[in-house]
Amino acid sequence: MQNPKVLIIYTGGTIGMINDPQTGALKPFDFEHLYGCVPELKQFDYELETYSFGEPIDSSDMNPEIWATIAQTIFDKYADYDGFVVLHGTDTMAYTASALSFMLQGLKKPVIFTGSQLPIGQIRTDGKENLITAIEVAGLRDNNGQPLIQEVALYFEFCLLRGNRTSKVNAENFEAFSSYNYPLLAEAGVHINFDKNALFRSPLDKLQLGTSFNQKISLISIYPGMQLHPLKSLFDIKVNEAILLETFGSGNVFTSTELRDMMKSYLDEGGIILNISQCQKGSVELGKYQTSQVFLELDVCNGWDLTREAALTKLMYVLGQTKDRKERLILLEKNISGELTIT
Ligand code: ASP
Repeated sequence: MQNPKVLIIYTGGTIGMINDPQTGALKPFDFEHLYGCVPELKQFDYELETYSFGEPIDSSDMNPEIWATIAQTIFDKYADYDGFVVLHGTDTMAYTASALSFMLQGLKKPVIFTGSQLPIGQIRTDGKENLITAIEVAGLRDNNGQPLIQEVALYFEFCLLRGNRTSKVNAENFEAFSSYNYPLLAEAGVHINFDKNALFRSPLDKLQLGTSFNQKISLISIYPGMQLHPLKSLFDIKVNEAILLETFGSGNVFTSTELRDMMKSYLDEGGIILNISQCQKGSVELGKYQTSQVFLELDVCNGWDLTREAALTKLMYVLGQTKDRKERLILLEKNISGELTIT
């Protein structure tokens, strides 16, 4: 069997940043610098190739257009490599990983996101281990010679997580990411131990690419004492084709006729409301409490245990695929790439 061939796609992020001597702030720098900081890469018995986006960016500047460029790049080069590693800033990595899991359906090869909390040029960097193990994972095969990981995953600080289940939870520690509602895909110690039952396998035979997004959505996170009249401008079909509503606990909301009526007329106009919980762990359970009955009554879409990142990117993706409201609702409540657990 030939040595695995892995493509490293560099988009930017702290991993490749250096200090701007003028401002003292970290700014993205080119890939040659990053590569030069990790001579260990030469020891891999993998064939490594690299691909850099024109201008490396801080991931705060990521957007659906760039997600589409990353997905298109992987799609175009899919046949030439056994696996892909995407180097990306940590701030919005969970969004990009989620978006790619919807854009690239039917993956039979790994797409592993990684980055770091400290630049790779710094002596205490976490970037080297993250990069080296992400590459190793991207080239691993099972006993039948098939890629072990066949989904979009995120490797960070000894943990491999499903991309669309992750959130950045820490701006300070090396353990920056969590996957509260789904087990680790693997843990790296002396060995890399995989949880084979947790790995995603797509029912599709062929890789499909979908790069259209519709950004006519808004996020509303409720809180006690919230003013309702400013929401009128958001519950307007001309402004938003869908609203992500982040609710209390298992999908509850304060009792308010004003909010109920606002949601009803928005839904009647053809809008979509997707309900997810503000809690990071656990799922929406409509009807468990009186305070979630309104969502059952109005037939609001259930987001189950979706993360905010997966819910927002799924909404933009689904709205970009079809204009038909029924089809949108079916896709939203469907488990497309392992992003939700329907109980
Ligand atoms: N601001 C950086 C980014 O997301 C943070 C990081 O990479 O850790 O690009």
